This record gives sequence, C-alpha cells and structure tokens, in this order.
Amino acid sequence: MKKIAIIGGGIIGMTLANYLDPTKYQVTVFDEPTGQATKASAGIISPWLSKRRNQQWYRLAKDGAAFFPKLIQDFHLDHTIYQRSGTLLLRPEKQLDELLALAEERKKEAPEIGQITLLSGKQTQQELPLLKPFSALKISGGGRLDGKAYLLWMRKKAEEKGVGFISQRVQLANAQTVIAGETQKTFDQLILTVGPHLKELLTPLGYQVDLRPQKGQLLVFQTTFKNSGNFPVAMLDGEADLIPFLDGKILLGATHENDAAWDLAETQEAFDQLTQGARRFLADPEKLLAAPAHYRVGTRAYTSDFAPFFGQLNDQLLVASGLGSSGLTTGPYIGYLLAHYLNTGAENWQDYQKELSNYIR
Ligand SMILES: Cc1cc2nc3c(=O)[nH]c(=O)nc-3n(C[C@H](O)[C@H](O)[C@H](O)COP(=O)(O)OP(=O)(O)OC[C@H]3O[C@@H](n4cnc5c(N)ncnc54)[C@H](O)[C@@H]3O)c2cc1C
Repeated sequence: MKKIAIIGGGIIGMTLANYLDPTKYQVTVFDEPTGQATKASAGIISPWLSKRRNQQWYRLAKDGAAFFPKLIQDFHLDHTIYQRSGTLLLRPEKQLDELLALAEERKKEAPEIGQITLLSGKQTQQELPLLKPFSALKISGGGRLDGKAYLLWMRKKAEEKGVGFISQRVQLANAQTVIAGETQKTFDQLILTVGPHLKELLTPLGYQVDLRPQKGQLLVFQTTFKNSGNFPVAMLDGEADLIPFLDGKILLGATHENDAAWDLAETQEAFDQLTQGARRFLADPEKLLAAPAHYRVGTRAYTSDFAPFFGQLNDQLLVASGLGSSGLTTGPYIGYLLAHYLNTGAENWQDYQKELSNYIR
C-alpha cells in the first residue's frame, strides 16, 4: 500500500482525502488552519453568469457546480451543509435583460442552472423579505455551501475510512519528506493543497510559484428571521452579497483586499464598506445591520491570470492552488479529479487550465 500525505485540509484536500481509494493508499492529512479560506468563505455556488472571459475557468466552474449532486450523494451531505437555495441577481433593469439572455444561452450547456425567471420588485421581496422591491433575475439552480460544516463532515467521513490527521504546520525537506516539528516523515507521494502557502512550501525546493495572497473579510449577522434557511442567496450590484443560512444567520460579504495580503485582523473599514454597499438594497437596514455580528477572515490564493492550477509537478508531488474567489465551486471537483487520477491513472483536466509550467517553474 502506498503512503500519501496531503498537506492542507481545506476544501480541495478534504475532498481528495475522501475520494482516494483506501485499498490503494494509506493517507495522512497535515493541516494547520490559520487563515484558511474554506472556513471563512461566503458559500455561493453560482458561477454561470460571471462576466469572466476565461473559457477554461468557466468550464471548470460550470463542471464544478454540476459536480455537487454527485458530491451530495457520495457523502450524504444534508441541508445544513449544502442547499440548492436559488440565486437572485440584483442589477439595473437594462442589465437584467442582458443577464437573462446570457443565462438562457448558458443553460444550453449547463442545465443545472435550473429555472430562469425575471422577478418584479414585489416578487423579489416575497423571495427575500430582507430586500427592497428591486427587480431581479432568479436562477433556481444556485446553491450555498457552509464551508466549515463541510470540512467537519468530510473529516468525520475520512476518519471512518482510516485517513490520519495531524494538526501541524509543516515544511518540506524534499519532494517526499515532510518536516513536522522535530520529526521527519517520508511518503511515496505528497499532495500540496495549501492555498496561498504553496509558494513558501515549494521555494526551498527550488521552485518559483506564481501566487499571491488576498485578504477576505465578511460579516455574520445573527438575526431573528426564523425561516432564513428557505431564503435564496442575493448577489447585489457591487461587492456585497447576502447569503442566508439556517436559524437567522445572514452573511454579508466579502471584501477583496490585495494590499492586506496575509493580515487576518477584523477591521472597521470592512464593516463600513460591506454595510454601506448593502444598505441601499435593504428594506429595513437597521433590522439586519444592528443585529449581533461577528467577522470571518481568510486568505485567498490568486495567480497572475486569476486562474486555478492543479496536477502533477513531478513523480512525487501533486499540487493544486490559485482558486481565488470561486474555490468553493471548483475545489471539490479539483479534489475529485486529482483523486481519480491517483486511483485510475486517468488525467481528465486538460480542458480546464493552462499547462502547470505557466504557474510553477
Ligand atoms: C471571505 C471569503 C469568501 C469567499 N466566498 C466564496 C464563495 O462565496 N464562493 C466560492 O466559490 N468561493 C469563495 N471563496 C473562495 C474559497 O473559499 C477558496 O477559493 C477555497 O476555499 C480555497 O480552498 P483551498 O483548499 O485551496 O485552500 P484553503 O481553504 O485555504 O485550505 C488550505 C489549508 O492548508 C493549510 N496550510 C497552509 N500551509 C500549511 C502548511 N505548511 N502545513 C499545514 N497546513 C497548511 C491552511 O492553513 C488551510 O487550512 C471565499 C474566500 C474568502 C476568503
């Protein structure tokens, strides 16, 4: 049996650990979660109406979203972890017509978009009473994922399969050896799924990695809306989106702070920016914004062309990073593709990305 270490227990690492064949591999996950993006994330799974022009990214995000039904079935994810909640897009009237046309076009290759409906202001409010009566486009296939709950559940599932966990920040001595505190452990294969930390892990081995960190903050309001679990996600015009979860929990986020990089401090500027961005859309701003709130802060990983990369770096090393602000959507599928490759030898990712050498030399 081959020994594999996965370094990084975010959404890629934990999905991968669960899909690896336990009859072929003895798996250990090393994870120290400071700054982890997955547990800080907003949870929006709705990539279809993005204006990004990168076709490879779109294919990956589209297929990542389409992968969710399989993921739910394979690991019995319930509504506390993932829900197909529907997504509302709030834009000026003229842009809504353009978005409607785009949605109809994209649905031809992505039926999982579901029903596409233009809503009147009154209908928007019926769907999400937090909002003023603005017109909106609704797509029923949009979903929300609780990143933290997903990781907890997937850890339980992985432990049941015999995966070992070590809560420690590690370094690499070489392409097969992990330095964990005073000890060194050697494996047949290492898989590096450490988000923006890939650069620091690979630099001592002589690699140059095209990655930069970006700080993201969001706000979690604990409201008295008892039926918030039935609300759709609202993608507002601007940076702030509203992501309702169960039991009155409403997320407002997120910031994209390039200058703050690794900083994990909660800031008043983020609170002001997010609440000001949302205020003009809210029916009763005080009811939401005066509710008790706390922050979530995490670090995203970006490449120069904003595209993710993953695959085999050499005989012993596999890598995946650069998921940016859509990694909850693409991450589980990337984890699955890497596991499928290790289980079967089939490499099914050429359509989704440029050559790895564009990002790592
Ligand atoms: C505020 C915010 C909101 C977001 N909202 C959304 C959203 O709505 N929809 C969406 O699709 N995406 C969203 N994202 C993006 C998404 O969360 C990320 O792209 C995705 O979670 C990245 O997953 P990952 O597994 O690559 O990295 P991570 O989740 O960051 O996991 C990497 C793990 O490796 C650990 N690690 C690093 N170095 C070491 C080491 N040397 N030793 C041991 N462990 C190490 C880290 O601490 C971490 O636990 C959001 C991100 C943020 C920050």
